[in-house]
Amino acid sequence: MSDSQSRPPHEDGTTDDRQPIQRLAARTADVGGISINRILPQRARRLIGAWCFLDHAGPAIFSADDASNAGPSPGNRGMRVGPHPHTGLQTFTWMLAGEILHRDSLGSEQVIRPGELNLMTAGHGIAHTEESLADSHELHAAQLWIALPYQDRHTQPRFDHYNELPRWTDQGADFTLLTGAFLGHQAPTLAFSPLVGIDLFSPGNSHPTLPLRTDFEYGVLVLEGRLTLGKERFDSNELAYLGSERLQVELALEPGTRVLLMGGEPFGDSILLWWNFVGHNKAEIIEAQRQWEAGDPRFGEVPGFDGQRLMPPPIPWATSGN
Ligand code: MN
Repeated sequence: MSDSQSRPPHEDGTTDDRQPIQRLAARTADVGGISINRILPQRARRLIGAWCFLDHAGPAIFSADDASNAGPSPGNRGMRVGPHPHTGLQTFTWMLAGEILHRDSLGSEQVIRPGELNLMTAGHGIAHTEESLADSHELHAAQLWIALPYQDRHTQPRFDHYNELPRWTDQGADFTLLTGAFLGHQAPTLAFSPLVGIDLFSPGNSHPTLPLRTDFEYGVLVLEGRLTLGKERFDSNELAYLGSERLQVELALEPGTRVLLMGGEPFGDSILLWWNFVGHNKAEIIEAQRQWEAGDPRFGEVPGFDGQRLMPPPIPWATSGN
């Protein structure tokens, strides 16, 4: 913070060449039969505030008639993710198209539809499943993980569903506030650290200027369309990491462009991500994995899902101590 005295932010944050914009590309991964774009974490960037994981699924259309397909064809049935555990994080699912059924070991059963947000606080431990509804033939969603601060890492697990979020139109763009506060709006979303998440959709060409907090770091992911920042263009599944100490950012959005702005106070605790666990040291992760493998009641059972529990790969560093 005191550093901002010696490095005052520029009015035009986007052309502050002392802090160039970092371009991050996605890699593809398979999640429950769906090919998704994984943007975080990657070697060049682990975190944006407490945001520690970012998957972008779709937009994708599935076959309307599975029976017409000869043999198994991954993707045609949509997404189907069997029971798996989480610790030390919140899963944050923002739905843009399609319908997904969430079930968890607390007994929650919730369909998430476009414009809605599911937030599962894993805390000490939870297990869940996610599957496309049988009559849902498309999917477009972002799933993020939010790391819990050290003092909250063992908080009691809970599940929250938000179907009404603050929405407004400004400077030619449609805003939905997913978490945190922005321009006098406040999202209802449960948060354990200072952070913000905003979905912006631009029906036409727009150039919204967004005020930023200098103590937050920010990233902008293009979900669809094209974003220009200064002279740099970013296409779908590219993330522009803006860093901190900016007063504002001007986004140039082409017609039909949708972006996700994530921000937060740089996360003070060092964390480890392994499989579906966030831990603050190796011993925490080793214990969580051992307990999941042993069917320990820490994670409970997911009622109603017909399928096998997912199992993690062996931890490569499990014998290297703490
Ligand atoms: Mn999960």
